[in-house]
Amino acid sequence: MKSDRDIIDRIIKSLGENSVNVERITEKIKKKYKKNSKMIYRDLLKIFTNLDFNADEANEHWNKILEQKALLSKRLKRDVGLRVAMLDYFIHKNKMLKNPKIIEIEIFDKLSTSVITDELTHLYNKRFFTETLYRETLRAKRYNLDLSVLMLDIDDFKRCNDKFGHLFGDRVLAQIADILEKNIRKVDYVCRYGGEEFAIIFPETPGSGALAVAERVRKMIQTTKFVVEDIKAEISLTISGGISSFGIDDDTPEGLVKKSDIALYQAKNDGKNRVYLFYEEKRKFFRIDARCEVTYHILTEAEYEKSETRNISGGGILFECDELIPIGSLIEISIKIPGTRRKIKAIGKTTRLEEKTLNKYEVGVIFTKIDPLDQSNIIKYVSHIHEKVNK
Ligand code: GH3
Ligand code: MG
Ligand code: MG
Repeated sequence: MKSDRDIIDRIIKSLGENSVNVERITEKIKKKYKKNSKMIYRDLLKIFTNLDFNADEANEHWNKILEQKALLSKRLKRDVGLRVAMLDYFIHKNKMLKNPKIIEIEIFDKLSTSVITDELTHLYNKRFFTETLYRETLRAKRYNLDLSVLMLDIDDFKRCNDKFGHLFGDRVLAQIADILEKNIRKVDYVCRYGGEEFAIIFPETPGSGALAVAERVRKMIQTTKFVVEDIKAEISLTISGGISSFGIDDDTPEGLVKKSDIALYQAKNDGKNRVYLFYEEKRKFFRIDARCEVTYHILTEAEYEKSETRNISGGGILFECDELIPIGSLIEISIKIPGTRRKIKAIGKTTRLEEKTLNKYEVGVIFTKIDPLDQSNIIKYVSHIHEKVNK
């Protein structure tokens, strides 16, 4: 993550200030190391050799390198320096390096940065996105963490290019990248996926969190004026997006990209300038018309509202409301089934929206998270009413 990057930058800077006495610098940096101080050897070896070790392995190698340094210095009757000892150790002792290249740290750093960043926007590129999403998916699986992926695409960008030229289009891309970079947390990965598409990885973030961020940047871009200098004009642009979440929508990196793309396609299809969460109805439930008390709460907002269902099934509800809830919104719902005391709590996604009369809407919600016991209680209630009606 970027925090690791900051630490590595700091080490490189300190090394640059005193490149001869690496040991003294190491001791100095170690004091500043806030996390596990053993990590410093892992990071230092990565900087010097580009080899990946875990903290314990790195610590062990580091001690052996110091031994090698003492030995070499004694034999050669001069201080050989840590890097010479390191090279000798990795080539001759443990043979992890066979054919090393000598290069200035700063030059290597610039080169390796250019491998993972996009030249026009300075965002991470697709290669970095793919590798990072793979790593983050493994981490989410191992530690049972949330993880969401947002795909963004500029609306009608071809028209913008055709009208104002490719150079202007390039400037717009860089400007939009800038807005994304500045308004998305440092721990998230903002990448250029290709052309006028961006992909953002949100580690440890549920779909509702990613949606809140996406909505913020969508509104920000919608109100930004892009200046066409040649003709002294200003134009507006919009973006559409799709979000999917690990564990809910898919468990694989490829699957997450695909599901986010499907949601993005739905957003484009429904008129663009909107961000949707991925949804699919997993199985068909029997539905009955019924009026049950409902309290709902859009996860990106603070208010709780009361309403009534129009119909209900084990898979979701249709209810009335006075506000426009965008399709793809995540909402928390609590439903009171007549004749029971316990309220059923569920998380759902809005999949349908219909304006019945002025400012009166019907909203369809499918459950994305519900206790299986609660779900079977709804199914029981539904079949009970169905039997009563058909007697
Ligand atoms: P939609 O709203 O459906 O996304 O329509 P669109 O016109 O944005 O989508 P389409 O996929 O038809 O066209 C994408 C355009 O983006 C085509 C290409 O001219 C433009 N584009 C892609 N990459 C670049 C780039 O690096 N620079 C510039 N200037 N334009 C680019
Ligand atoms: Mg596109
Ligand atoms: Mg587009």
